[in-house]
Amino acid sequence: MNRHTSRPVVLCLSGHDPSGGAGLQADIEALLAQGCHAAPTVTALTVQDTVDVADFRVLDRAWVLAQARAVIADLPIAAVKLGMLGSVEMVDTVLELMRQLPGVPLVCDPVLRAGGGGSLGPDDVGYAIRERLFPVAAIATPNLPEARILAELPNGTPDECAEKLLPYIRHLLITGGHGDEVEVVNRLYSRDGQTWTSSCQRLPGSYHGSGCTLASALAGRLALGEALPSAVQSALDYTWRCLRDAEAPGHGQYIPRRLPLDAS
Ligand code: PLP
Repeated sequence: MNRHTSRPVVLCLSGHDPSGGAGLQADIEALLAQGCHAAPTVTALTVQDTVDVADFRVLDRAWVLAQARAVIADLPIAAVKLGMLGSVEMVDTVLELMRQLPGVPLVCDPVLRAGGGGSLGPDDVGYAIRERLFPVAAIATPNLPEARILAELPNGTPDECAEKLLPYIRHLLITGGHGDEVEVVNRLYSRDGQTWTSSCQRLPGSYHGSGCTLASALAGRLALGEALPSAVQSALDYTWRCLRDAEAPGHGQYIPRRLPLDAS
């Protein structure tokens, strides 16, 4: 094996979802599909199915540090993807880890709720992500409900949320899947004042792990060297195809099909 010809490695700091729809499994599949290698580091365990979350447990800080440091010491990390952190202490743990990875692009999916609505962490976690992780992230990918929590604007429009959040972060992609527009309108805001929108056909149904899929695909694209906003468009296109081809193996939400049939 030649390290220089290896696929780019993306360190994923996310929770585990035993239904396989979201969390680390989503990260791994989405990264494989981009041609990247995922280094899945567990931040939290959840009890959930495709309907909703029943419980979760955040891992000890020392365990997360040990997992990530083992990987960082061994593999050339080309990007980092953050998913469920679950506690303010985990936010600080990630910040500590990022100090070991200067210049490595960080994609932050500010996970606070499961698709079924169950909590994956108190809103304080969102505020800590905003205050401490947004400043070191390349981009965050909240959906509109998450952006409203982070911006503390319960009825805020995407533009109002972005205005409130851009002082903290360089680029913000507010996804429109939960919006009420006929098409899904995804909006990329940059601190330099540029905005960019990308619309796609709204698909019927609700999906488990769509945010994880998008953020991981984007981290993979950045790891491959693709620049914004091209990386954002590639990740959105990929995610839309995964949702179009989604399956409903359980009693709840659809699970995106992230890998082609011959690879799954
Ligand atoms: N991370 C974990 C571990 C989860 O269990 C979930 C949802 O259940 C999420 C992230 C967020 O999922 P989504 O991509 O649907 O927002």
